[in-house]
Amino acid sequence: MAEIDVIVIGGGHAGTEAAAASARLGARTVLLTQKKSTIGEMSCNPAIGGLGKGHLVREIDALDGIMAKAADASGIQFRVLNRSKGPAVRGPRVQADRALYRQAVQRELEQTNNLTVMEGSAEDICQREDGSVVAVVTDTGAALDCRAVVLTTGTFLRGVIHCGERKTPAGRFGDAPAAGLSLTLERMGFCLSRLKTGTPPRLNGKTINWAAVEKQPGDEPPEPLSTLTTSIPQRQVPCYITHTNTTTHEIITRSLHKSPIYSGQIECVGPRYCPSIEDKIVRFADRQQHQIFLEPEGLDTDWVYPNGISTSLPEEIQKELVQSILGLEQAVMVRPGYAIEYDHVDARELKHTLESRKAPGLFMAGQIAGTTGYEEAAGQGLVAGINAALRAEGQDREFVVDRAEGYLGVMIDDLVTKELSEPYRMFTSRAEYRLQLRADNADMRLTQKGLDVGCIGPERQKKFEEKRDRLSNIEEMLQSLKASPTHLTKAGIAVNLDGIPRSAYDLLGNRDLDHNKLSSIWPELRGLPEKYIELVKTDALYASYIQRQEADIRSYRKDESLVFPKEINFDLVGGLSNEARQALEKTNPQTLGQAARIPGITPAAVVTLLRHVKATSRRERQVVVTQ
Ligand code: FAD
Repeated sequence: MAEIDVIVIGGGHAGTEAAAASARLGARTVLLTQKKSTIGEMSCNPAIGGLGKGHLVREIDALDGIMAKAADASGIQFRVLNRSKGPAVRGPRVQADRALYRQAVQRELEQTNNLTVMEGSAEDICQREDGSVVAVVTDTGAALDCRAVVLTTGTFLRGVIHCGERKTPAGRFGDAPAAGLSLTLERMGFCLSRLKTGTPPRLNGKTINWAAVEKQPGDEPPEPLSTLTTSIPQRQVPCYITHTNTTTHEIITRSLHKSPIYSGQIECVGPRYCPSIEDKIVRFADRQQHQIFLEPEGLDTDWVYPNGISTSLPEEIQKELVQSILGLEQAVMVRPGYAIEYDHVDARELKHTLESRKAPGLFMAGQIAGTTGYEEAAGQGLVAGINAALRAEGQDREFVVDRAEGYLGVMIDDLVTKELSEPYRMFTSRAEYRLQLRADNADMRLTQKGLDVGCIGPERQKKFEEKRDRLSNIEEMLQSLKASPTHLTKAGIAVNLDGIPRSAYDLLGNRDLDHNKLSSIWPELRGLPEKYIELVKTDALYASYIQRQEADIRSYRKDESLVFPKEINFDLVGGLSNEARQALEKTNPQTLGQAARIPGITPAAVVTLLRHVKATSRRERQVVVTQ
């Protein structure tokens, strides 16, 4: 085999984006995964996007990733969640045909130059004396030499499935776990902990009483996730809604001792915001019902995914609880739900590039780094893949998205600076600059950055440049068109009669005014494309808030630009509490801004650090002058 620059281990959501991104940068990349046929598999719900997650998918797309394109190619229902709320918190979501999604991801990889897909299991990673990685050993005993490795093993590391009292070693249903790499990581000195997640039973749609449940159609017309998608190829279908009831809750309450989470069989934590139905019944004991979305798994299958009843109760109890629900009285379970426990690495051992501090050249992304969700995994995969390729080329450059540039930056910064108490998932509330970080402007925020690093193909570059120029022309035009208050009042637009002319841009930022109304004053606005006008309107709507937020962003970037000396020893920083010192040593922040975001670091500790860094650099400057 020809020389390899980057080996990506694992063909899930993180691994596929990592491999494709690394190859787009020109690195000779191998994707090594247990089964080629499961590349792009959705282990749990057949959907991509949603609140917070939709932003991540758009950002992945803006950097020419594959997730949004695959979701559009396989989407059978498109909905923008939170449509009634402000544009900053809207979340595009696609219900996907599970098999078509897998095929679309596999097709994207086949069409990627510089990428070879290999079937096999990685059993070990070899290091040089200085700790840097040099090869991956497969289950055949072959050692594949390489310059960088991206580890994306999902829920597979020492994975154990729980269904009632039954425990089965597995990476997910039907797939073997990976044990060898856990030992490798322990040998390398990584701190491994256990997390868990779960999935609901799957139902046979032919046995559901559809007439009894509420229909939920998708958006018409569907809004694609990728800016490259021009039409949606698949037939669109509705989802349905039903609810648990007091009988369901009673069945669960009396069976709690049989649930591995409550019997003590599973001790680690799962995602609080994606809880099992057992958790919901215990935590929200006063609720009479919980919503369940009945989501088709595809166009050519009868399998239905009941979103909202993830459970690890014994199979016979799952059957009883399902059949207590309206519309599901005769429902046949085609696969029981289960919980899965797996090893993950403390992401504070990673840098913002997702490269590990302990083993240079080893990158990690996805569930192994403590997240849950396809989108979170894919986003990290993309960043890790780009950085692995840069490292393999021996470049000093790093690709880091900051908190003011994207949700990708928010997620990675949270992961590498904060201790994890549960699997991490994205929410819009995690982003402090969310008026800027909208799902609708991801390309305008990130594609240029992608072009600069070299991960954008020619098709996207062309589309992006056309759109960017068009938007800027439209905005310029709107800014230049002005009318006096008297003129506007005569045209039926109520403004203060203060003598100050208003621009078409200012007026468009008014929620109650639309492009059509403004066209009656300025006919040259007629015929401008609606989709671009909508984007400019959103910018105009938020313009004054964004101006204020820019001051916060400047101050954030100032703290980020204060870089600590490479070998900073926090023991030598006088005046820090033990708690602060331990937190700093564990996370090893590289900038004052990163240090300030670590839980337990008080404003007083930040000032102490700032003084120490300034004094150190003053001393260093003096030494240089006297020499
Ligand atoms: P995965 O998609 O799991 O991919 C891992 C890949 O690595 C696989 O292709 C595997 O074959 C390969 N691999 C593993 N070890 C090796 C090895 N040694 N050598 C070669 N290849 C290897 N997310 C949610 O957001 N909400 C949920 O409710 C939810 N529930 C879940 C329930 C279950 C039962 C499971 C299994 C997952 C659930 N998830 C959920 C998580 C979601 O599936 C993951 O977050 C996402 O798939 C993570 O992507 P990944 O790329 O990190 O790993």
